[in-house]
Amino acid sequence: MRAALHIRRVANATNLSTAAGLLLAALTRTSIERGPNGLLFGTKYQPRLPLADAFTVGNVIFYRADRHYIDSRPELLGHESAHATQYAWCLGLPFLPLYGACATFSLWRTGDPGSRNFFERNAGLAAGGYPNLPTLVRLAPLWTFLAHNMTWQGRHQP
Ligand SMILES: [Zn+2]
Repeated sequence: MRAALHIRRVANATNLSTAAGLLLAALTRTSIERGPNGLLFGTKYQPRLPLADAFTVGNVIFYRADRHYIDSRPELLGHESAHATQYAWCLGLPFLPLYGACATFSLWRTGDPGSRNFFERNAGLAAGGYPNLPTLVRLAPLWTFLAHNMTWQGRHQP
């Protein structure tokens, strides 16, 4: 294992995010197996939430599918592995509210929780199954009103 990946494993063990992942696995009766690079795989995750085929808590990557699916999608593993690294950078569970804020921002800007989400862009949008949508112009009616109003005032000034 590369030194950086070893540091990530120790960091996420120390900041308790991997422990939170293992607790979630225990509470949801999700079986755990060893993956590469200090990662753990929770396979055949059953609960409906979150609405994702895969998600990461600390160094634990949860999949709704089995090991065959995981091994056949190295790009998705690379994406989720990047999220494990993000947990380490966020000192563990602060990742969750930060991710939530970025997902909310992205949802407002594009209608999709991933397209303008810093964490998903950093981990790779396509590998995570997210579209790269353009930003929406939500304030267009306001700008149109202001532009029209300013033009109207301009016309009536001496
Ligand atoms: Zn992701």
